Amino acid sequence: MLPWTTYDAMRHAASADPEGFWLEAARRIAWEQAPVAACRPRADGWHDWFAGGTLNSCHNAVDRHVAAGRGEQPALIWHSCATQETRSLSYAALQRRVAGFAGGLRALGVGKGDRVLIAAPCMVETAIAMLACARLGAVHVVVFAGYAAAELARRIDDVTPKIVVAASCSFQGRTVVPAQATLDEALAGAVHVPDGCVIVQRASCPMRMVAGRDHDFHVLERYPPVAPVPVRAEDPLYVLHTSGTTGTPKGIVRDNGGHAVALSLSMELIYGCGPGDCFFTTSDLGWVVGHSYGVYAPLLGGGTSVIVEGCPSGSVIERLCATHDVKCLFTTPTQLRVMRQGGVDLSGSRLPALKRVFVAGEYADPTLLDWARACFDRPVVNHWWQTETGWSITAHFFGLPEAEPAAILNDIGRPAPGFSPVVRPAVAGETSGEILLALPLPPGCLAGIWKAGALRPPTTYLAEGGGCYRTFDEGLITDDRAVHMLGRSDDVIKVAGRRVSGVQIEKIIAGHEKVHACAVVAVSDGLRGQRPVAYVVPASWPAQPGWAAEIAERVACGLGRWVGLKEVLFVRQLPTTVSGKIMRRTLATA
Ligand code: AMP
Repeated sequence: MLPWTTYDAMRHAASADPEGFWLEAARRIAWEQAPVAACRPRADGWHDWFAGGTLNSCHNAVDRHVAAGRGEQPALIWHSCATQETRSLSYAALQRRVAGFAGGLRALGVGKGDRVLIAAPCMVETAIAMLACARLGAVHVVVFAGYAAAELARRIDDVTPKIVVAASCSFQGRTVVPAQATLDEALAGAVHVPDGCVIVQRASCPMRMVAGRDHDFHVLERYPPVAPVPVRAEDPLYVLHTSGTTGTPKGIVRDNGGHAVALSLSMELIYGCGPGDCFFTTSDLGWVVGHSYGVYAPLLGGGTSVIVEGCPSGSVIERLCATHDVKCLFTTPTQLRVMRQGGVDLSGSRLPALKRVFVAGEYADPTLLDWARACFDRPVVNHWWQTETGWSITAHFFGLPEAEPAAILNDIGRPAPGFSPVVRPAVAGETSGEILLALPLPPGCLAGIWKAGALRPPTTYLAEGGGCYRTFDEGLITDDRAVHMLGRSDDVIKVAGRRVSGVQIEKIIAGHEKVHACAVVAVSDGLRGQRPVAYVVPASWPAQPGWAAEIAERVACGLGRWVGLKEVLFVRQLPTTVSGKIMRRTLATA
């Protein structure tokens, strides 16, 4: 039970005594050694949370619930939209499989601080591998299975994993995508050589195992179980790469202690969920929402998590919600548009347990949210997130008895505790501009960037003059403290809620011998929210038939087909400013 009845009371508690507020929140976690301080400045200028405390994130997400009598409760429910399989795992079964797989990883030499790269789709085994790493104090690095070999190789070199875990195939819709070629090519292209690979063999397309390199996931799972290893609160739990601003993916590092505390609090405060409640997120485990709300938050809270492989139709969502008494659904605007296109109607009493629907990840237009509200006949609310923050910066707070103001439900809400947004207008006197967050950020946010085998302070995110974190999102704040989002200030493009950098695409296109210059911009897309469009100045004019398809294919092979670049438009020159910078905004509105 939360001690505040209103948003203002909660906000006041968090700002008047942040140490007391967060130490109290930390009581939701089972610590090996309880922390005595919340926030501590680090020598490198960033901040640690709960330093001095020790814990194990896997113990908190799994073992302690078994010990508390929840062993038979479903912990994880997985459905594949590709194969139509559904599996349910109780907390006791999850504990068995995670502890066994941790034993298998340990037998391969994985220990505290080692990185394990997991390149697998949204599957039970992906979640098991993540939790097994957490159990050993190892650092998991999940890579979205849709990435092409070059991107996988780049991430292997960035985090130098001891072991790579992969599935033998993934799916695009219902089409099988074998993983063998991508994995082999990535390993051949990377400078770093992992000690071995662990393969989840899937019936749809088993992989030819490479002797001396590959181990079978399901065999390793049967190793003697290992107990959770306590780690320091500030030790890394995972690295998750994200793109934007520099064209080079950045490995966002999440700590153990702050992450566990922030996510546990958020389950109650934002989503209004407690032990035993069922939470369903449609995000892939390769993205931040999948990490936070597909795996960790529902399990830390003793709830049940429903995860899906692929993009579920309205009827699949309805069936999963009805069968498993889902209380909260967390999805994207793109997913809602897919449902709207399919003409689904979920109103009425078919989903009696469903209390509310949350969306995040990309701009949600009010008509879509209004449609969703009518469709579900439930509150449908928006909130604002980044991979870097790990939980929502602004939200609506359904754990508080006070009703959320109806006027701001379509918007991204008010700041979550510990987040203090300020707007920096580009032109003095304007009310809108880039949103900065005052430091320190609350627990759960990036502990730093992974670089050259170590944790570095996130200097690319620091505003000039220090003291603030740059979100690279633009917006404004109204008197009622509601934050309103206007869009990104950098090159990030959100394709179906998935983040890709325009500069990253440009780098691939620029490597083509027939390209003189290029610019990639985001344009609105009726289904996927945004899609990339490339403007290309060819090396010789006019461009020849077939060049556009060649360039699009190069991007698909370099980054992954999910990026969906189809429009390659040839121009004689790109619009530039007097100082020679390409005017991407002009192109985006062309
Ligand atoms: P990601 O790191 O993939 O979660 O992407 C984060 C970015 O997605 C943010 O910086 C925003 O630009 C965008 N975003 C996230 N949530 C929302 C939202 N509710 N409305 C508009 N844009 C959003």
